[in-house]
Amino acid sequence: MTPNNIEKIDKEFVWHPFTQMLDWEKENNIVIEKGDGIYLYDIHGNKYIDGVSSLWVNIHGHNNKELNDAIKDQIDKISHSTLLGLANVPSSVLAEKLIEIAPASLKKVFYSDSGSTSVEIAIKVAFQYFRQKGSKYKNKKKFIAATSAYHGDTIGSVSIGGMELFHSIYKPLLFDTLRITYPYCYRCPFNLKYPNCELYCAKEAEKIITYYADQAAAVVIEPMIQGAAGMITMPAGYMKKIEKVCHDNEVLLIIDEVATGFGRTGKMFACEHEDINPDAMCIAKGITGGYLPMAATLFSQEIYDGFLANFEDNKTFFHGHTYTGNQLAAAAAVKSIELFKKNNIINAIAPKIEHFSKLLKEFDALNNVGEVRTIGLMAGIELVADKNTKEPYPQKDTIGHKVILKAREKGVIIRPLGDIIVILPPLVIGINEIDELLSVVYDSIKAVTQQ
Ligand SMILES: *Cc1c(COP(=O)(O)O)cnc(C)c1O
Repeated sequence: MTPNNIEKIDKEFVWHPFTQMLDWEKENNIVIEKGDGIYLYDIHGNKYIDGVSSLWVNIHGHNNKELNDAIKDQIDKISHSTLLGLANVPSSVLAEKLIEIAPASLKKVFYSDSGSTSVEIAIKVAFQYFRQKGSKYKNKKKFIAATSAYHGDTIGSVSIGGMELFHSIYKPLLFDTLRITYPYCYRCPFNLKYPNCELYCAKEAEKIITYYADQAAAVVIEPMIQGAAGMITMPAGYMKKIEKVCHDNEVLLIIDEVATGFGRTGKMFACEHEDINPDAMCIAKGITGGYLPMAATLFSQEIYDGFLANFEDNKTFFHGHTYTGNQLAAAAAVKSIELFKKNNIINAIAPKIEHFSKLLKEFDALNNVGEVRTIGLMAGIELVADKNTKEPYPQKDTIGHKVILKAREKGVIIRPLGDIIVILPPLVIGINEIDELLSVVYDSIKAVTQQ
């Protein structure tokens, strides 16, 4: 197969995710052949920095020998047997390791294979939990989620999602979700300024959660930062207030750490920034180091116990995806967590994060950079047509897309969220490589916005 052939058959047969295929068919597209560390290589031999960790998943770099070997070792034993009615070695070992690193409130691991399914599982469990509890809990059927939230693409996760662009067309299919207003400080929905606002947004959320407490099974929220909404960071103290009002009102707190888990924000899990103990936690993206699809939803003992009964009482959680607990993925995830320990990754990234956020501050100098938001090795640069009025670019300008095409010419792969340029490198990136990555992004923004 020649490189040109691959591009041709891709265009002929593959429908790409989150992609306007009319544009795709017209463009020259990159076909990736291999990876090494933070680099991706295309079929023509061009080398690129993987500036978004292959969609926010890669941690230890590509083609990492220890991860490769862990998967190969497992292949030589068995690749898959079902977790329905059978246990297996790596998924048991992994569950113990996950509970060891997770917030102390979480005791049980339910596996699945994507972030979306991990959220579906959390909401189905929360719903069933209160159905089974009965009496004064019997009306707790609804979910409270944040405006502009993103929790995945399946119908349940879209129902609690709040992104108009992705979700509005499906409205007739979705269940009703109650909303709290997410604190987007750059464009504060209450027209206030932090810290003078004294977290008015949290007070609003407290009111809503308290008011709906007898109808709400759970609050579902992305802790510390909304990812797909545009890398929108929460003001300090907000998350802790949400936790408290949930606990005080018997509303479960479901934390969606799909994007933020596994070191991405500088802690193993983002909820550690405010010492949050959720009732359930969804994890996926980084769980296998970015090697194989896997997800898990972690639950408290109390929730788990609510499903224990004689079989004929019908309290079983009748849910399970075919590849649940797959051995290859679990073996990769076990190795990834071992690498966190062995390479002391959480400590090792601290100076990188400092360097990363220091360099990103310089982006403020650019005329069309409205705001730079960052936590850990996760950043969003919001581009605006007018810095003073914060006026966005017209959608048809596709300014974010233009910037990433420019970066590509200079050897960096990134993917925007509308006009927000996302930078999310593998955690193994070195200081010099951060310099290289950010200087390409800086020059690309400058070239596209100042012409
Ligand atoms: C990516 C993401 C999901 C969905 O995960 P998939 O594996 O794409 O289904 C859910 N929640 C958050 C916060 C995410 O970033």
